[in-house]
This record gives sequence, structure tokens and C-alpha cells, in this order.
Amino acid sequence: MMRMTVLASGSKGNSTVISSSRTRVLVDAGLSCRELLKRMSQAGEDPTRLDAILVTHEHQDHIAGLSVLARRLNIPVFFTEPTHRAWARMLTPRTTMTYAKWLDHVQREKEARAAAVAASAPNSELAGQLAEESRIIAGLAAGAAAALSHSDARADDPDVAPELPVDPDEEDLCAPESQQAAAQKPDPTYLPAVEYFHSGTRFSIGDIDITPFTIPHDAADPCGFVFESEGIRMALATDLGYMPPNVKAALKRIDVLLLESNHDLEMLRDGPYPWSVKQRVLSRVGHLSNHATAEFLEKDYDGGAAWIVLGHLSESNNAPELARLSAEQALGNQPTLLGNRVLLAHQGTPLDPITL
Ligand SMILES: [Zn+2]
Ligand SMILES: [Zn+2]
Repeated sequence: MMRMTVLASGSKGNSTVISSSRTRVLVDAGLSCRELLKRMSQAGEDPTRLDAILVTHEHQDHIAGLSVLARRLNIPVFFTEPTHRAWARMLTPRTTMTYAKWLDHVQREKEARAAAVAASAPNSELAGQLAEESRIIAGLAAGAAAALSHSDARADDPDVAPELPVDPDEEDLCAPESQQAAAQKPDPTYLPAVEYFHSGTRFSIGDIDITPFTIPHDAADPCGFVFESEGIRMALATDLGYMPPNVKAALKRIDVLLLESNHDLEMLRDGPYPWSVKQRVLSRVGHLSNHATAEFLEKDYDGGAAWIVLGHLSESNNAPELARLSAEQALGNQPTLLGNRVLLAHQGTPLDPITL
């Protein structure tokens, strides 16, 4: 048995529960602790049975409730080391970082990772990919430094927020009573336990095998995940600027696929975002459009999933019907794929659990 319960999906918060018969993990904690607990109870998921939290990347819509929830449930958090570092830096008090400066940090992390990959596998596709991302982020950083004020970026795109203060009220209300006294001046970066994983290297939590894969996005070391237990495979791939070969390869033989379908290109172009933010979303380190998702489904997808869940839909630059139509048309163009059922994940309410 495996189950996927999408608690929230979109630029205001992302979180998904993946369970096997013996193990239960939460991927991302992008809502407040209170809201995450509420959504889990709405969806029939028992939070006290969570074994771990896994983090895809350090953007606010993926980590907003992370430290409070991990402390409340006293469970380990699985990161890559650069993501953990970037997250801790964001929470360090009195650090005011502009969007440009933050991109600069991200670029350095990306360069270091490109160098590490190049050293272990010279001329690999991934090394080239990371080097390209690093160059794109350098361009975005230069553009942001020249043209974009810090507040503009943050007001218009919550997914861009480079820093995240911990709300003390949230801490008090969510902590069990015994912890409240100790939590008066909590270190915002304190976690009960931290485990590191590396993209491309499989690891296990209980009876779930987990393979993280690198995704192209403007964060320190972002990843998607493939989960496998009892022969069933579920995958999450959101927050990616395009579909590189390593992601296409990772998304083979998947039974339930949560895939980004972020924006409609025309709505984004004509929509309310400032041009610099539009550029970021459209770039190869931004988000997947309905069109790019459809292209993947039509050309590269192997058609094995019972369910395709479209996620991280933009509320300003997409409409659920457009995303669904675009994916269903792509699947409809391949008669063998008509068995694939398409669902839309929501920002405001959990999806019914998908059990295989
Ligand atoms: Zn996101
Ligand atoms: Zn993101």
C-alpha cells in the first residue's frame, strides 16, 4: 500500500504526506504548523505518526512551518546540506538580505555543486546543466540588483521571499505545554534532528526507498523525489524551470505523479507581476508552464501513472480549467495514455488521499 495526500500546493504553501503501510513522511512544510496539523486532520492523516519531514528547497512556500512542526512532533528533518545551510541563513536574526544578494548566495551554492559534480563526473549532462543554471542566476541577480527593489520582489511573488522570521505567537500556540517554558527564546534554526541526503543517491526511511533528483530552480540545491515501497512508485516534481534529461529519466515507471503546471504563458505575460518577476518565473530556473508540462506528457512521459496530480498552480497566472485541459489534451494525443486520470491539487484545501 502507498498513499499520497496533498495537503496544499501553490505559491502560498506546499506540503504532501507520503505513506506506506509502515512509514509516513511529510514532504515540505510550507504552511504554519497550526494549519498543517489542521489539514492533516481534515485529510485523515495522523500527524503523530509522521516519521520525518523532507525538504525540497528553502523557499518560504516550502518551509514556512518547518521548524515549529519538527519541534512539535519531535521528528527529524531531511535536507541536502546546501539547502539546510540556506534555510538556516534565512532564519538568522538581523540578516537583511536583498533579493539580489540572496540570488548571489544561491549562485555560489550552485557553482560549488556544479564543480563537485564536474569533479566526480566530468562532462556529465548534470554538470553542464548546473553550470548553465549558475549563469542564469547570475543574470537574474544582476537584473535584480539593477532594477528590482527588495520589497517589490517579495510583495509580488511569495515564492521569492529570501528571509523568514519566525512568528513567536505561532510558536507558543503550536508548542505543547511542557515545551512552552523552554521555547521562550527559541533558536529559530533549532531542529530535533537533521539528516543529510544527496540528490541522485537513494536512501530509506522505514520501508520507503527515496531517490532525490536535482531540479532546475533558483534555490541552493533544490530537488524532487521518487518514493517506492512494495513495488509502488510515487513522485513529486514541482518548482522547476524546465524538464531536463535527469528529471525525465527520474519520472519513469511512476504510479502517482505530482507534477507542476504553474502558469499559462499568456496569463503570465499579460498578468500583474512586474517584468523582472515574470522573467524569473519564465526562466530555466523558474516554474513549469502548462505548455511545458503538456509537452513533457506528450513527448517524454511513459504513460504508466494511474494518477497525474497537477500542482503548484499560480493563482494569478493560471486557471485550473486551463491546466487540466492542457494536460488532458496532451494525454489524449496518445491513445495509450487515456487511462491516466488527472487531478488538480489545491492551495486552500487538502486533496482526498490517493491510495494504491
Ligand atoms: Zn514553490
Ligand atoms: Zn520554489
